Amino acid sequence: MKINIFKLNFFVNMGNKLSERINNLPVSATLAMAAKARELKEMGIDIIGLSLGEPDFNTPDFIKKAAKQAIDDNYNSYTPVDGYSDLKKSICKKFNRDNGLNYEINQIVVSTGAKQSIANVVQVLINPGDDVLLVAPYWVSYSAIVILAEGNPIEISSDISSDFKITPLKLEKSITKKTKLIIINSPNNPSGSVYTEKEFLELSKILEKHPDIYVLSDEIYEHINYGIPHFSLAKIPSMYERTITVNGLAKAFAMTGWRIGYIGAPEWIAKACTKMQGQITSGTNCIAQRATIAALEASPSKIKYMVDEFECRRELIIKLLKEIKGFKLNEPKGAFYVFPDISSFFGKNIKGKKINNASDFTIYLLEKAHVATVSGDAFGSPKNIRISYAASKEKIKKAIIRIKLALEC
Ligand code: GLU
Repeated sequence: MKINIFKLNFFVNMGNKLSERINNLPVSATLAMAAKARELKEMGIDIIGLSLGEPDFNTPDFIKKAAKQAIDDNYNSYTPVDGYSDLKKSICKKFNRDNGLNYEINQIVVSTGAKQSIANVVQVLINPGDDVLLVAPYWVSYSAIVILAEGNPIEISSDISSDFKITPLKLEKSITKKTKLIIINSPNNPSGSVYTEKEFLELSKILEKHPDIYVLSDEIYEHINYGIPHFSLAKIPSMYERTITVNGLAKAFAMTGWRIGYIGAPEWIAKACTKMQGQITSGTNCIAQRATIAALEASPSKIKYMVDEFECRRELIIKLLKEIKGFKLNEPKGAFYVFPDISSFFGKNIKGKKINNASDFTIYLLEKAHVATVSGDAFGSPKNIRISYAASKEKIKKAIIRIKLALEC
């Protein structure tokens, strides 16, 4: 069935009665594409959704059991704003066990997903006009969250030739008097790049010269890692006092909808985040918090079967995409995305459709191959598209065959 994609509303119709804040806020490209794919599926179109970063596994039974127990134990009241204290103790243990980080419970804040954890940190640190450095490609919501806080998102570019990582020199050149925060994400969404300990040590040498810059280290993909040992930036002694370590349950534990994120941070930042959260959402869901204790107290070996499966899918999708002419790929070392450079298609006519940019390309794939992906523009990399391989091997195979056919002249 031919989709007339242009008849479908990608974006909200923005009325002039709305605040400038919301009118200036971009729609989340990942969520917009996922909503679009869902809408088309509901219309009966066989869309393969590879747009969303969402594990297709069920939440492990031992975590579900803890949630059911919490309901039976009548956990139904408001929780402390920053989370139950026994949960915060489990988070401290996790940080120590997996990351070699020592946090006390007054340095922990539990939130409604890592997205809220990040938004809290940006809201409490950024004044209007402050610059926030984002290493491109970066997750779509970082820039939007900075814009909401009236900060300036400043991109540090990287591309496939540097495996989408930045060098100390690039970092140094991007720092100005207005720089207040840098957001670093390893393993990275969307590129899958993972910084080594040595690379982080080299970057920290530059940051040591600028003691007023804070670092938000988003480690949500920590466990989805295919070889380079995960290293937490806050483990570097000179970084600990100015790094906010963000993590959560969504990706490694297949708990996207449970909405649990958390930070480990200097106490004054944790306190400020609690104050912010206390006026906006309060403590997050009590049942999900109880289940999180079970998840974090367990050995990470209990979730390894999912990581192993993601690794097989990574091999598969890389092999299949390499067979398509015009796709330039890096090898992702973590997370569950590939981020090919598809700029060789720009300016070309494919089956009567002119491709001018990555957005045209993703619309073409949706229309002609019925495969949902996300354009790289929203990630600060307009030559690329993001394809999630958090989907079954069958779906991946079918999707790539469709993409290949759609691109054949
Ligand atoms: N973080 C996931 C992604 O990048 C979930 C969607 C979102 O919140 O952006 O696809």
